[in-house]
Amino acid sequence: MQPPLPRKDLFDMPEGVIYLDGNSLGVLPRGATARAAQVIDEEWGGQLIRAWNGAGWMDLPRVVGNRIARLIGAPEGSVATGDTLSIKVYQALDAALKMRPDRRVILSDSGNFPSDLYMAQGLIRTIGKGHVLRTPPPEEVEAAITHDVAAVMLTHVDYRTGRMHDMAAITRAAHAAGAVMIWDLAHSAGAVELDLAAAQAEFAVGCTYKYLNGGPGAPAFIYARPDIVLGIDPALSGWLGHDAPFAMEPDYRPAMSTERLRVGTPPILQLAVLQQALTVWDDVDMADLRAASVRLCEFFIAEVEARCPALSLASPRDAARRGSQVSFAFADGYAAMQALIDRGVIGDFRAPDIMRFGFTPLYVGDEDVVAAAQILEDVLASGAWRDPKYQTRARVT
Ligand SMILES: *Cc1c(COP(=O)(O)O)cnc(C)c1O
Repeated sequence: MQPPLPRKDLFDMPEGVIYLDGNSLGVLPRGATARAAQVIDEEWGGQLIRAWNGAGWMDLPRVVGNRIARLIGAPEGSVATGDTLSIKVYQALDAALKMRPDRRVILSDSGNFPSDLYMAQGLIRTIGKGHVLRTPPPEEVEAAITHDVAAVMLTHVDYRTGRMHDMAAITRAAHAAGAVMIWDLAHSAGAVELDLAAAQAEFAVGCTYKYLNGGPGAPAFIYARPDIVLGIDPALSGWLGHDAPFAMEPDYRPAMSTERLRVGTPPILQLAVLQQALTVWDDVDMADLRAASVRLCEFFIAEVEARCPALSLASPRDAARRGSQVSFAFADGYAAMQALIDRGVIGDFRAPDIMRFGFTPLYVGDEDVVAAAQILEDVLASGAWRDPKYQTRARVT
């Protein structure tokens, strides 16, 4: 028997907050503070450099990668961790393009997260061979997978609207056209059920500070399908991706495993916190989590539509086409969100007009949905959001 969701006891949540932003920054898992203190005091403070071996620091990226692998339906040893997601996008895309040297098209979609597109643009300039980036609307991507496409690079769940691509179908279409498939799982890992092994995509990347609760700046991950790993020529050939880092050889030789996608010194503090954060998934069945997520999202949509006629649903209505977030469009969404946050309901805003609410069944329950919808109704009906103090945009929205 799995314990029922939510499992609020596993997290340290501030009093008086309904947190609907775990899709942007997950909450603090209980035990993370103690783990960080242990790494700082006992391992760093006490063992100093000996901790690389003695406390297992050098192995931590692999150990944490294996925990993530289980959550994304990938086999042991197929996930490397470190750096940030933008870096992992670059590595995956470069490797994919090298696998299709005769093709020049990268296919993404217009809804993709800007950093993924920016990294592709930068890589194109670095390679300097005239690659092009095509970004049709998300609904038209599948039809746009033509035989000149080298790599299809998509974010599975759209950060703005929560729209979810059909991973199996698009991967099949990419392969049918001879293209390499890269999935960005930033808004999927820990949010929806994933079966990368079945989908057969060559690469997947993701971050761990959203639904995986690894904390701000937690390391990213990259998956490479086991049968292609030894053919990957790493763009970022750092020493820790070398076959024998401490042999200090003058020339790069990639590791004979997914470790070749490592670059430099791993962020040990962040990895240790992430390792602790990932223990909350130990007895969570992803099918249960998905069922709870769908129920929370449906409930929130129904409550908000009944209470807030000024808002219009910007997410797919069909749960099967939606990740674990619900977005509503409202012209004054920024101010309305600030007023909402001031009243203890934390979501976020994405330009131009999207109010975004993430649902994380590990620590959000039905009672939170009702309370959040009531407070949102009050903010809109009272016009509280018109207060000038809610109009000035902060650096992070
Ligand atoms: C959150 C997110 C990022 C952020 O990348 P970082 O390098 O971790 O800052 C990139 N891509 C997608 C799709 C995201 O959702």
